[in-house]
Amino acid sequence: MKITQAEFVISAVKPHQYPEDALPEIALAGRSNVGKSSLINKLILRKNLARTSSQPGKTQQLNYYRVNDQVYLVDFPGYGYAKVSKTQRVLFGEMIERYLQGREPLKLQLLIIDIRHEPSEQDQQMYKWLKHYEIPTCVVVTKADKIPKSKWDKHIKMVKKTLEVDPRDSVVLFSSELGIGREQLWDIINEAIAT
Ligand code: GDP
Repeated sequence: MKITQAEFVISAVKPHQYPEDALPEIALAGRSNVGKSSLINKLILRKNLARTSSQPGKTQQLNYYRVNDQVYLVDFPGYGYAKVSKTQRVLFGEMIERYLQGREPLKLQLLIIDIRHEPSEQDQQMYKWLKHYEIPTCVVVTKADKIPKSKWDKHIKMVKKTLEVDPRDSVVLFSSELGIGREQLWDIINEAIAT
């Protein structure tokens, strides 16, 4: 996909701040530090546009990026950050569930997982929510460059098994460092927004 335009639109704290122009939305979730901002920057070929999202503790905002006036990338707050209070965790859960349950323009959720680690309980919980709300999901296994190529298959299998990935959901190997997976991910996004 040729990127002609990419801009940050809003950090939405309340649903009434979500854009109302009905462009399709692709949401991204993952634990903090998993490489979500790097992945967004890689997708839209900007070095630093997605930075705000990685501020730990900002558990209650969805960051909207508009790409080519065609699609929004919606960055969820990173979860799993140790210093977040219980109240913030509850608010995070409420915001995400409300979004997943009722957000009509949401076409596809990307769940970002670090190739090196078994998906955490929160990753598993997130995937369960997604399936509960019947959201088409693509599991993006990132930081592929951090382990030898010979181990990629084994780690992808481990991720699929731990999350109990639905065979209808795609799994993409990614590296923001090397650019692996970028084209494949755009193909999946384009297919999702075309339907
Ligand atoms: P976020 O908190 O999920 O938004 O994570 P960031 O995108 O800020 O990335 C966290 C750290 O991982 C940073 O130091 C990145 O440079 C690094 N990182 C992200 N993606 C990759 C990747 O694909 N490969 C490697 N080697 N490092 C990565």
